[in-house]
Amino acid sequence: MKIHEYQAKGLLRAAGVPVPQSQVAFTADEARAAAQKLIAETGIEVVVVKSQIHAGGRGKGRFKEHPDLGGVKVVKGADAAAEIAEKMLGSTLVTIQTGEEGKKVGRVLIEQGMDIASELYLAATLDRDTGRVMIMASSEGGMDIEEVAESHPEKILKSSVDPAFGMQGFDARAVAYGLGLEGKTARKMASFLGKIVTAYNDLDCSMLEINPLVVTGGGDVMALDAKVQFDDNALYRHKDVEALRDETEEDPAELEAGKWGLSYVALDGTIGCMVNGAGLAMATMDIIKYFGSEPANFLDVGGGATEERVTAAFKIICKDPNLKGILVNIFGGIMKCDTIANGVVGAVKQIGLEVPLVVRLEGTNVELGKEILANSGLKITSADSLRDAAQKIVEMTK
Ligand code: ADP
Ligand code: MG
Repeated sequence: MKIHEYQAKGLLRAAGVPVPQSQVAFTADEARAAAQKLIAETGIEVVVVKSQIHAGGRGKGRFKEHPDLGGVKVVKGADAAAEIAEKMLGSTLVTIQTGEEGKKVGRVLIEQGMDIASELYLAATLDRDTGRVMIMASSEGGMDIEEVAESHPEKILKSSVDPAFGMQGFDARAVAYGLGLEGKTARKMASFLGKIVTAYNDLDCSMLEINPLVVTGGGDVMALDAKVQFDDNALYRHKDVEALRDETEEDPAELEAGKWGLSYVALDGTIGCMVNGAGLAMATMDIIKYFGSEPANFLDVGGGATEERVTAAFKIICKDPNLKGILVNIFGGIMKCDTIANGVVGAVKQIGLEVPLVVRLEGTNVELGKEILANSGLKITSADSLRDAAQKIVEMTK
C-alpha cells in the first residue's frame, strides 16, 4: 500500500524525523488559510504548493490543463498559493511515473519554503539477498535515482542494518561522512538515519524514500519529500496506517479483487487468466507467452474457488477493455472439479460472455467437472492439459 507525501510526513513527524511545517488542503480556500497560518507562524512569505498523487517526479511533471505548471510550485503569499491550488485541484498531472494518462490531483500540500543548501537522497528498503534493511544514500539528491545508479553507481552508498542491533551510531556516521557532511550537520544526519530505520521497522514499511533530504542554509537536515510503501501482509497490525488509504489512487479492479480476497494484478495483454494458486498462475502466464500471446492479468482465486468468488473474478476480468479471451486453469485439490465447473457455469450464465473461454480442470472428480461444462449449453471449450489449454486460447484469440 502507498500513501501520500503529506501522510508520510505526518508519520515521520510523529517518529521524530525533522520535516518542514505543512498542511494539506482539499480546496483553494483551505490552501489560502493554510498558507496564511504558515506564514504567520514561520515569518516566511515563501510557500510551496505540492500536488498530492501516488507518483513521483511531480516537480518535473506538467498539468494537462496547464502546460506551463508543474506539480510543485514555489510561490509568495497566501493569495498566490490559493491561485495555484485552484489550478492544480481537479487537474491532471502527468509525470514520468504516472504514464501518459496522468493522475487527477484531489489534494495539495501547503508547505513552508525551505532555504536549501544541498539536496541528498536517502532510502531504506529490504535487501532480499541478506534479509536485512538496507540504507541507500547519495549526494545526488532531487534527481532520478535510477539515473544515478546507471551513470554513477559509485555515488550511491549502501549500509546494511543488523536486525539484532538496529542502526548503529558508527554505521550512521559512516554514511553521513560518506555523503560529505561535517560537524553538527553530520551528527544531525546520523540521528536522522537512526529515526528513519526505527520508523521503517515500526511501521512495517517495504520502502521509505526521502528524495530530497535537504541540508538547509542553517546546517539542519530535513525530509523535503517522503515516499512510503507498506508491506500489505503486515497492514492488519497498523489500522491507523490502513485508514490512510486513498482509494481514488488505486486501480479499481485491484481494489475490488482485494475485497474478495483475490490476488489480482492488471497487465497489458489480452488473455484473462483465472487460476488457483500463485505458482500455477505464474506458470499459466508463462505458457501463454510461450505460445505467442500476452496475459491480461495475474489472478489467484485462492484455494476456495467457490461460485461466488469465481463470479467475482469473472466480473473483474471482463471489465478489462483489452480482453480477447479467458483461460481458466484450476486444480481441484481442496475444491472438487465438479464444484468448480458449477461455479464457472453459474458465473457465465450470470454475467454473459463475449469472448472465447477455455477451461482446463484437473484433479478430483475431473470427469464429472468436464461433463458439467459440456452439458451446460454454453460456449465453453474444455482443455486436457496446460499446454492444450494455452494453445487453444491463443489460437482462438489470434
Ligand atoms: P517530486 O519528487 O515528486 O518531484 P519533491 O517533493 O521532491 O517532488 O519536490 C521537487 C523539488 O521541489 C525538490 O527537489 C525541491 O527542489 C523543491 N521543493 C519541494 N519542496 C520544497 C520546499 N518545501 N521548499 C523549497 N523547495 C521545495
Ligand atoms: Mg522527490
